[in-house]
Amino acid sequence: MKAMVLEEIRRAQLRDIDVPTEAGPGEVKIAMKAVGICGSDLHFYLHGHIGPFWVKEPMILGHEGAGQIAAVGEGVTNLKVGDRVCMEPGIPDWTSRASQLGLYNLDPAVRFWATPPVHGCLVPEIVHPANLTFKLPDGVSFQEGAFVEPLAVGMQAVSKAHILPGQVAVVLGAGTIGMMVALAALAAGVSKVIMTDVQQEKLKIAGGYENIIPVNVSEEKAIDRVKAETAGWGANVVFEASGSPRAFPGMFDLLCPGGCVVLVGMPPGAVEIDVVAAQIKEARIETVFRYANLYPNTIALLASGKVDVKPLISRTFPFEQSVEAFEFAAQGSPEVVKTQIVF
Ligand SMILES: [Zn+2]
Repeated sequence: MKAMVLEEIRRAQLRDIDVPTEAGPGEVKIAMKAVGICGSDLHFYLHGHIGPFWVKEPMILGHEGAGQIAAVGEGVTNLKVGDRVCMEPGIPDWTSRASQLGLYNLDPAVRFWATPPVHGCLVPEIVHPANLTFKLPDGVSFQEGAFVEPLAVGMQAVSKAHILPGQVAVVLGAGTIGMMVALAALAAGVSKVIMTDVQQEKLKIAGGYENIIPVNVSEEKAIDRVKAETAGWGANVVFEASGSPRAFPGMFDLLCPGGCVVLVGMPPGAVEIDVVAAQIKEARIETVFRYANLYPNTIALLASGKVDVKPLISRTFPFEQSVEAFEFAAQGSPEVVKTQIVF
């Protein structure tokens, strides 16, 4: 089967590769229909590693996928051939201590698509556990289904924040994950999201959503806008979704007393945090690693229409042009949020 294989840094190609083709007990075979290119896919493509995860052998890229059930294995009762689905890309060891605590995203043995040495989903057919495969409602397209994965990250961030209706959130970074966090926060009831970035094109897209206030921090100080929007009190929640070390100094200044900072973005290395600035507000600090138990809610939210990801699909390529799609996404054009590949 031809798949989108990363051979080495910046060299990927569509080529035949051996992958499982039979759905075993408790598994389904899925005909892939749409895959989003994630920042992590691009990072492996451009740099060959993320932190300790190095691409040492050829690896199929892609982990944000949706498709259609092509076969079901023994004992699968929740899905049937023809069902439209999206998939959770991390397969934990369900008997692990972390999994039994419900923290299966933190299971050290988790096998996550397109994280070396595990193959991803940019392949016409894939075999996956049925219990990590979720039906898409009729009104949710495959391309929206491929957004469930990044949106689930936003859902995890918002659930960590314990948002209350009417609160004000700040989201640092207007990339895909920042947008996912902002949309999930609005759905959770915040009255407004103040969203910062330095790329005007991305902020323009963000500002197209009701109740997102874009702030270009190369022209205006975030703290000034946050004060103006909160009568000087500060935001209830600050989501760090840029992963930029520059976002960390001053982060707690944006927060109201007793507020919460949620760290979503992954900085390239250690960053400095102003502990005293956090202490004098008794700030709560939360962190996010992927998500757990959130796919059903995320899909339901998309189906409800309360979250619209369609404006974020910047460009779509056919599977046959997957290499071109990666080269396009790797340019990092400021007006591009999400590049997707369809089959
Ligand atoms: Zn991703």
